[in-house]
Amino acid sequence: MWQKLREFFARELVILVDPTNTLHARRRKQVTAVIGSTFALGMAAAMGVAPGVPNDDPNQPRVAETIKLPDLRAQLDQLVEADQTFIRQERMQRGETVASLLRRLSVQDPDAEAFIRRNATARSLFDLKPGQTVLAETDSRNTLISLQAVLGGDAATSRQLVVERVKNTAEPTYRARIDSVNNEIRHEMRSGEFRRGFFNGMDAANVPDAVVDQVVSIFSGVIDFHHDIDPGDRFRIVYEAGFQDGEFVRNGRVVAVELINNNRVHQALWYSRGDNGGAYYTFDGRSMKRAFLRAPIEFSRMSSGFGGRNHPIYDKWHTHKGVDFAAPAGTKVFASGDGTVQFTGQQNGYGNLIILQHGRGYSTYYAHLSGFASGLKPGQRVSQGEVIGYVGSTGWATGPHLHYEFRVDNVPQNPLMAGDVASPALTGKSREQFLAYTAQMLSRINALRTFNVLASNN
Ligand SMILES: [Zn+2]
Repeated sequence: MWQKLREFFARELVILVDPTNTLHARRRKQVTAVIGSTFALGMAAAMGVAPGVPNDDPNQPRVAETIKLPDLRAQLDQLVEADQTFIRQERMQRGETVASLLRRLSVQDPDAEAFIRRNATARSLFDLKPGQTVLAETDSRNTLISLQAVLGGDAATSRQLVVERVKNTAEPTYRARIDSVNNEIRHEMRSGEFRRGFFNGMDAANVPDAVVDQVVSIFSGVIDFHHDIDPGDRFRIVYEAGFQDGEFVRNGRVVAVELINNNRVHQALWYSRGDNGGAYYTFDGRSMKRAFLRAPIEFSRMSSGFGGRNHPIYDKWHTHKGVDFAAPAGTKVFASGDGTVQFTGQQNGYGNLIILQHGRGYSTYYAHLSGFASGLKPGQRVSQGEVIGYVGSTGWATGPHLHYEFRVDNVPQNPLMAGDVASPALTGKSREQFLAYTAQMLSRINALRTFNVLASNN
């Protein structure tokens, strides 16, 4: 009986200690009831041996015999046999099968197993990645009552798979459905310093990859991550993360970010404009979007630091007429701005070259490419950030790199200047609304700043 009780507590402990578990509240009452009666029993036994009376005195009457013990066995049997259910949570493993998963969840139910195997909705269970959790509720005979798993979704809502036994049917019958449930949105905050490069700094601060990618994209008009990031540059990020029953589901959008690059403070804030989507703005309401990217090339762990960060030619753009981005062959090259393809083909020293026209006298050159995006041809319209080709070393190039030129009226200019082209600001009422909204987000960023000061003083 005590063995049974121990097993029972072991099973229940996982639910009892986890307040985020859906069955926590209900189970807590049940378990408390059992602990209560067990405790009463212990008290009775303890009181049976009167305090201060030596146990080894044979002349002392043994009061314990006269105490009527509560029938714990009956209570336990009742608890276990009657409506008792068991919850078990397991993480999906690599190469998991229906059988292995159910075994680990302590489900012994051939009907449920067969159902999950053949039902298309239930089988979506196996879209889960290793490490994601599955929760099973069984009765005392290890028959499946229900099975739940969060399949995915976005930061705001989760898709939750529910497999349930239909109650009161002659034959065991199961049903599977996918519910859309709202997530709890939490604002995560991260901050740090780029001591050994951009990705290193982000990793050290535990910034998820999906968030890192957004930061690069948000500042793509004002920062060239290949060349600009210096040791000592700092960042602060606030982003959304969706949770379901306390379990992390997915990272969402960066809502506020500050990057101090070479003592220049760059700040961006997501501002939703109702049904028209939203965009990133500086904290004082100017759009983060620029007419041209600072670096028209994919910035990745692979390409960062490739060929050395401080390319000597970068400082000599005026004799060189452009900027070189050293990167592994095959790295994606982006259209720097919205425009039209003017030329794709070979041109002596340039090797494989793309020229884009952007109107108002602006044009951009992309040279030494290993290839062009499939189907790219003169006259075609391209959007900023669209992949137009791939890094190579065709033409006069000693190694794989992108040679990028920014021209105004066909005269090469310093691409650093391109960042200043066009950045419309919010005005009037929309600016007022924006500033009211931003006050809240700014307080978060400021909280993070205060925390940093406190942390660095310690
Ligand atoms: Zn070059």
